[in-house]
Amino acid sequence: MEQYGLFIDGEYRDAKAGETIKSINPATEQPWAEVASAGEADVDDAVEAARKAHASGVWRNKSYEERADILAAVAEIINGQAEALAVVEAQDGGGTIRKASFADVPGAAGTFEYFAGLCRGYVDEEEFAETVPVASRNIVRREPIGVCAGIVPWNFPILMASWKIAPALAAGNTVIIKPASVTPVTALLLGQICKDAGVPDGVVNVVSGPGGVAGERLASHPDVGKVAFTGSTEVGRRIMQLASGTIKKVTLELGGKSPNIILDDADLDTAALGACYGTFFHQGQVCESGTRVLVSEKQHDELVDKMVSACDRIQVGDPMDMMSTMGPMVSSNQLDTVERYVGLGREAGAECVLGGDRPDMESGYYYNPTIFTGVDNGMRIAQEEIFGPVVSVIRYSDDEEAVRIANDSMYGLGGAVWSSDTERALSVARRLETGTVWINDYHMINVRFPFGGYKQSGVGRELGPWGMSAFQETKHIHVGEDTPDKIYFSALFN
Ligand code: NAD
Repeated sequence: MEQYGLFIDGEYRDAKAGETIKSINPATEQPWAEVASAGEADVDDAVEAARKAHASGVWRNKSYEERADILAAVAEIINGQAEALAVVEAQDGGGTIRKASFADVPGAAGTFEYFAGLCRGYVDEEEFAETVPVASRNIVRREPIGVCAGIVPWNFPILMASWKIAPALAAGNTVIIKPASVTPVTALLLGQICKDAGVPDGVVNVVSGPGGVAGERLASHPDVGKVAFTGSTEVGRRIMQLASGTIKKVTLELGGKSPNIILDDADLDTAALGACYGTFFHQGQVCESGTRVLVSEKQHDELVDKMVSACDRIQVGDPMDMMSTMGPMVSSNQLDTVERYVGLGREAGAECVLGGDRPDMESGYYYNPTIFTGVDNGMRIAQEEIFGPVVSVIRYSDDEEAVRIANDSMYGLGGAVWSSDTERALSVARRLETGTVWINDYHMINVRFPFGGYKQSGVGRELGPWGMSAFQETKHIHVGEDTPDKIYFSALFN
């Protein structure tokens, strides 16, 4: 079995208490890697390494051009190791090798490349001359926060770790990443990749370990200045509480129950593919999945028929086979959750028109693409995040009602509108209470633009310049002009 250590201060090491976690391959249900499991003492060591590295100035004193060169080198190494990284990612989390090769690994490299580009020519200081309320020079500076923690989920392990590391480094911070216990390996490998690219020791640290121990310690550690968290809304609430002890900056990318709205002038063939792609990609284990398909009464039956036919082209199977387009769920726990929700949907009176069962496989946590019709938006399958290949088709009578149903959710992460009339689609998109809306597309997250949630889907934004500023403090320096009559002194002096 492969062995991996914690990556602290530029080297791999065992956990102090000698604890390990076994990573299970979701396709074989067998452990394939044994990974050190950090306790509080290990997290403290990682934070101390990051604190010292920040205080020494070894990273924050580098110019933006130097940072850009190193971030670009990280991207180059990821690209150079792309095949091996994709295999690890697929084995660890059960996503298909196809997805890992075309989305996750190039996406991780692309994230480093993008933030390298943002660093080039970056201006972190602006100056403004003012006469009001007094004559002054005003300098506004962007500075790093210091030690930043990134706590990431299991659905896109290398990509989510990159979304934290790249902007944190671009802004001049040091960072500690905690991957999910079920998918720790690619994040641990990123530690060495960063080192090989020239990131100094202590600047990037990776501690695998249970959320309840390593995650809690990171989110409450007094020397951590910011927590960037991606995961469930439930744990996001806990992170906010823990971070409040020392008023850490937080960004939270949480769950979703996104609407995928098919307007009645949409090309139904494409919209049906989009409805399936929006919800079955990566077994539905995507935060912004379009798990509520909203369709007009008059097109309902035709759309559902087309969705069912489209699913014939989905191949559930061994994630290591390039022909498989859906692999297993990440864990037996996640499979149990999906089965429980499918039961709840049936009990509530929704009709399961496709799937609702497991394929016949020798091993693996597989589940078939599942379509429910006759779903009322108030049902639990329409309100709660299932995080599996289960879509609820909901009818609406007009655009107004579609918008009302779409917004009737505690979440507000993603969503889409399908239409042949862009202006009409834009009018709907503008009324959706959600951080991202795609028109005639789905899952098109672009590293250049902000990503995050309204309502209980999150706080703050990642990616683009917005994402970099979430890893920065903003300082205003006021330079008083040398005027003899500082009239406002009269507030104190007679
Ligand atoms: P999770 O919330 O269970 O875990 C996320 C991370 O938090 C893991 O590293 C976990 O170990 C850690 N953690 C768990 N309990 C903790 C605690 N008490 N203190 C500190 N850390 C703790 O989420 P998951 O099951 O790994 O991932 C699925 C969830 O992530 C879904 O809800 C999904 O919508 C969400 N997600 C959101 C986005 C987004 O960008 N909005 C992206 C991907 C996934």
